[in-house]
Amino acid sequence: MSKQQFKAESKRLLDMMIHSIYTHKEVFLRELISNASDAIDKFYYKSLTDDSLDFNKEQFYIKVVPNKETRTLKIIDTGIGMNKEELETNLGTIAKSGSLAFKKENEIKDGYDIIGQFGVGFYAAFMVADVVTVISKAFGSDQAYRWESEGADGYTIEPIEKESIGTEIILKIKENTEDESYDEFLEEYRLKSIIKKYSDFIRYPIKMDVNLENEEAEKGEEQIINSMVPIWKKNKSELTDEDYENFYTEKRYGFDKPLKAIHISVDGTIRYNAILYIPEKIPFDFYSKEFEKGLELYSNGVLIMDKCADLLPDHFSFVKGMVDSEDLSLNISREMLQHDRQLKLIAKNISKKIKSELLNLLKNEREKYEEFFQSFGRQLKYGVYSEFGSNKEVLQDLIMFYSSQEKKLVTLDEYVSRMPEDQKYIYYGSGESIERIEKLPQAEFVTEKGYEILYFTEDIDEFAIKMLMSYKEKEFKSISSGDLGIDGEESNEETVTSDNVNKELFDFMKNILADKVKDVRVSKRLKSHPVCLATEGEISIEMEKILAAMPDNQNIKADKVLEINKNHEVFHSLQDAFANDKGKVELYTKLLYNQALLIEGLPIQDPVEFTNDICKVMV
Ligand code: ADP
Ligand code: MG
Repeated sequence: MSKQQFKAESKRLLDMMIHSIYTHKEVFLRELISNASDAIDKFYYKSLTDDSLDFNKEQFYIKVVPNKETRTLKIIDTGIGMNKEELETNLGTIAKSGSLAFKKENEIKDGYDIIGQFGVGFYAAFMVADVVTVISKAFGSDQAYRWESEGADGYTIEPIEKESIGTEIILKIKENTEDESYDEFLEEYRLKSIIKKYSDFIRYPIKMDVNLENEEAEKGEEQIINSMVPIWKKNKSELTDEDYENFYTEKRYGFDKPLKAIHISVDGTIRYNAILYIPEKIPFDFYSKEFEKGLELYSNGVLIMDKCADLLPDHFSFVKGMVDSEDLSLNISREMLQHDRQLKLIAKNISKKIKSELLNLLKNEREKYEEFFQSFGRQLKYGVYSEFGSNKEVLQDLIMFYSSQEKKLVTLDEYVSRMPEDQKYIYYGSGESIERIEKLPQAEFVTEKGYEILYFTEDIDEFAIKMLMSYKEKEFKSISSGDLGIDGEESNEETVTSDNVNKELFDFMKNILADKVKDVRVSKRLKSHPVCLATEGEISIEMEKILAAMPDNQNIKADKVLEINKNHEVFHSLQDAFANDKGKVELYTKLLYNQALLIEGLPIQDPVEFTNDICKVMV
């Protein structure tokens, strides 16, 4: 049996091409300019093997000419052109790529950034044009040809006069419809911005010629719209800080000056170039839901994606910049990737690089790092906590906390490296501000021991540290936790609790505060203050506050212990009252409890009662 060939229903296929592949109509220009650039590249490639050809880069260009009167948009190139046969095969067959064939024939693997591969980009022109005319004269041929098509119904080819080698594509731009405007594709500023967006790094000059009757405009020099040389393909040694700063501003990555630029060129299993920035200031929407992380993704210098989120982990979401790779397997619309294997490799690589650059900054430019940390430290700490702590190893050396001893931000490594030998834990205190934590009665004992305390002033701090659990085998301990793990205080406690009178007093007090605290006991940590709250278990007072402020408040409370300083005069008053006037014990207990709440920044349930109680003591 003889095999039948599939016949493409070309009318419908073309319809599909035109209407279903691309999300944005504007990419038609990206496709036609990419083709023009490929055509010039081929010319250049030919000149390498053909001595009779003199490839003088200056004489090659791409020109975009809008004309509102004739409602046409021309894309002109000085590339290699197409002969009659090439017009038929390359433009007359959907999914036939002359560029892919050229690469194969000439065994071009890399070096020449020929963009074409799918053989469909050209048809994007029909998204915006009713009629597409191609006038082309091929290198080595005397006759030029005119190819014309209105889309689905096929095309015509006829000989025509054309002097120079190259191709001219003329789009008859569609009339506006009720819901689509096509006028914009004849507007100079709009065309320029599309070129800037997608084709800024096409290596040949893209010029624009506006057919204005205005004589002034005629006289004016043609502007080159694109930057041409991608800064990321330049040698690092050729580039100055200013170059990187200019690129940052030009690309509108931010309105600030970047704190640091990171230029990466990798030529390994995957090849890519990247320019990344650590911004100086927090973008206004950074800590909001609207913020979108991501890097620009280029394939061979042509923009594929504005914000490729997969290139950045959340904890480095503040990084701005771009990645360009020739190894991406694009899908047919060149708006997405077919496989994310390459992307994952690049992302992993980039992540490592960002971390090592941040560590460098920390080591060599401490002030800059602290500035960075003030802005984005919260994101790093959030990164320690999120994803069940899977990134804590990556991030633990990058986080900092304010130190009670140094009076500035310190790293965990710095803290641990100067811990006295008898210190078992990394101590921290939580509160709204440095000033507040500094005054916490709980801090007295730890400080007196000569131990450094890290101050946690941000919501995320304690959660992050709970996830981290330990650093260099040292566990974290809150200065408010029930057991501080400091030697020498145990015996003290024993003498007190074995004291029967005191036990009865504490039991009495505990009864008064039955629904509020788990226990009332003698403090091991208080020196000059009469009272404080300690906690037992996983939930600290700071965490209770944060959880209470969340929308799905589940009323989770810390297990609180009221600690009394037995060396304080107030304790003797309590003992006195316990012996002579139990009513006073109740009054004192409530007062002390409320004072402890105030110190912690927790709300007092009944402020009126509290002030009345104070008055009772005064009169
Ligand atoms: P691709 O660029 O992916 O190959 P296109 O549909 O964009 O697919 O173009 C099809 C083919 O037509 C190209 O491979 C190329 O051979 C030819 N072509 C298109 N535009 C031009 C041009 N301006 N100059 C020369 N050849 C062109
Ligand atoms: Mg193409």
